[in-house]
Amino acid sequence: MSRELFREGGELNATRVGPDQYEMKIAIPRDADGRMGRECHATDCSPAYFKVTPGTGIVEGQVVAYCPYCRHQDEPNNFFSSDQLRYAKDLAIREASEAVTGMFKDALGLDSSGRRKFGGGFVSVEMSFKEGQKPHVHRPFEEEVRRDVICPNCGLDQSVYGLATWCADCGKDIFLTHVEAEVAVIRAMLSDVERRREQLGGRIAARDIENCLEDVVSIFEAVLRILARRHLLSGAMSTEEVDKFFKKAGNAFQNLKRAEEIFQQELGIGLLGCLSEAESMRLSSAFDKRHPITHNLGIIDRKYLERVRSAEDEGKEVLVSVDEVEAAIAASLKVFGWVHSTLFRDAPNP
Ligand SMILES: [Zn+2]
Ligand SMILES: [Zn+2]
Repeated sequence: MSRELFREGGELNATRVGPDQYEMKIAIPRDADGRMGRECHATDCSPAYFKVTPGTGIVEGQVVAYCPYCRHQDEPNNFFSSDQLRYAKDLAIREASEAVTGMFKDALGLDSSGRRKFGGGFVSVEMSFKEGQKPHVHRPFEEEVRRDVICPNCGLDQSVYGLATWCADCGKDIFLTHVEAEVAVIRAMLSDVERRREQLGGRIAARDIENCLEDVVSIFEAVLRILARRHLLSGAMSTEEVDKFFKKAGNAFQNLKRAEEIFQQELGIGLLGCLSEAESMRLSSAFDKRHPITHNLGIIDRKYLERVRSAEDEGKEVLVSVDEVEAAIAASLKVFGWVHSTLFRDAPNP
């Protein structure tokens, strides 16, 4: 009796498609939130790992999917992660091991209880075969990726590392949606300041506001870097030249004046052109407060005084209000939208 390596149907729904070829359907387990890990296999893509929620986004007739980081496109099934591939192979090996055991029993002529008796007179020998345990298959390991957004164009619920640009299903530019999700976290923290002031006191509340301001400056810097990098790479600059450009720029994008100069000189765009003079001054005053907060525990130093020439006295604490941080967020979002639409007018936007 000849046996097949895989049972047709069976646990893995195997179908024989050639002399030594089988097709199997393997369901990839989801994480606790119903998300499924995906990985981009383009060379040089980083971080390449993301997650999608099956059943959201393009649910029928999807022939192509995209990497949120590099927009590499491929068949949806080809975005398997390395651990999902390991899982699929392990399942196939487990299934094949049953058939191999059967083949072994057949070859030795064992009966259904796995025994065979030789002889029958004075000398008889019994051979028995005990099956080993089925190999255990570990579920694929899923990374913790905690930046979730829903694409405003196709509705795909997806999670990425950092600030990604493209929707994994429809391939549209959803960078600003990612930025808004990031900013929503700061807004949520700001909205909790009063409760924390009552429960934990004024000093904690003040630190919360300061931390939020620092986060706004960090997002501002990160967003401008990503936008500038994308623009420079789409032009005549090589990756090495772009890397060199950012090395030279250092942390210039934390500083409004320097960021403005660089955007004007290198990208030909007036960074704060979309803000009124009052908005622009308010943003710049909030940004100026970040330095003593980060480097001097919030105490006003001479450097800060020289820069802002404010009436606040050296040695006093820098005061930041929730309103100030909220205004800085609103102005920053305006700047991001303006730079994005100016630089990437022709990109596939939602
Ligand atoms: Zn990629
Ligand atoms: Zn989409």
